[in-house]
Amino acid sequence: MTTPSKIWSKVDYDKDGKQNGWLQLPHSVTRSAYGNIAIPISVIRNGAGPTVFLMSGNHGDEYEGQIALCKLVRTLEPGEIKGRVIVLPAANLPAAMAGVRVSPIDQGNLNRAFPGDPDGTPTFAIAHYIDTVLYPMADFHHDLHSGGSSLQYLPFASMRQGGDAGLNRRALAALKAFGAPIGLVWAYSPDLRLSSVAAINHGLVGLGGEFGGGGSVSGKGVRIVEQGLRNLLAHAGVIDEGRAVCDFAGPTRLMEVKGRDYYVYAPDAGLFEPASELGDDVKKGQLCGLVHFVDNPGRPPEACHYDRDGMVICKRHYGRVERGDCVVHLATDYA
Ligand SMILES: [Zn+2]
Repeated sequence: MTTPSKIWSKVDYDKDGKQNGWLQLPHSVTRSAYGNIAIPISVIRNGAGPTVFLMSGNHGDEYEGQIALCKLVRTLEPGEIKGRVIVLPAANLPAAMAGVRVSPIDQGNLNRAFPGDPDGTPTFAIAHYIDTVLYPMADFHHDLHSGGSSLQYLPFASMRQGGDAGLNRRALAALKAFGAPIGLVWAYSPDLRLSSVAAINHGLVGLGGEFGGGGSVSGKGVRIVEQGLRNLLAHAGVIDEGRAVCDFAGPTRLMEVKGRDYYVYAPDAGLFEPASELGDDVKKGQLCGLVHFVDNPGRPPEACHYDRDGMVICKRHYGRVERGDCVVHLATDYA
């Protein structure tokens, strides 16, 4: 018997119509002894049909999804859907309000907190609610990310490869339907306490994606998300096909990340000079960049090189690095 979540809400997930409400996470502090962290949630429902659960603000400094979901909450009406759309646009609200990756309350990284803990700190309690209440209600899920403050991404939608071949096929079909210029298949991640892994464990057709970065807002990234969400809702059967608008020419380019050798890490602390840019095709052994030592200019810079061929899909945003920081990761065409 698992402990139930202490998060409560006046939102009724089984009621038709549009509700904009809050998840109330009890949080007793000096300025508010009986207070709650009020995390916004919207439910748009019209009779029987599939449930699509859309989420952003898992990391607070990743903004394209947060903007697109605010717009969707205001524009999507019950009369145009069949089934249910649940929107959690600022999943880790304290992080989203501070514009940072991890919660300033508990330093919790929501996307390293699944399956969560109902009696843990706020970040773990939120993960637990998503895992035990929201995921079991859903058929489709999209968790919208970007590179955050420290990384820049070429925008793409993504799926995670799990152990169920049938579910992988359904996720790949949803990824193609989303219609981003690039669709990335994650076959490797250094950490598995992720929302996407939890969603797969619940049998959901789950998508992700990185739609910008550098702690800024990509207008192109917002448009890709807005149009892609319409396409995903149509693919799920929640809205009519005709309502999905996409202005991208040509099919999605499918790519993948398959191992640790796709990533390059800073070999020393200093100031990183990249030798390639987003979208560049690179070869194994090619120079990735140089770490310079501005406090000791006579010392030769430390070089790092690519461990494999691929395309630069992600690069570090900040100039200063510590040893071990990821400076680039690659993607290759999906085989
Ligand atoms: Zn993220």
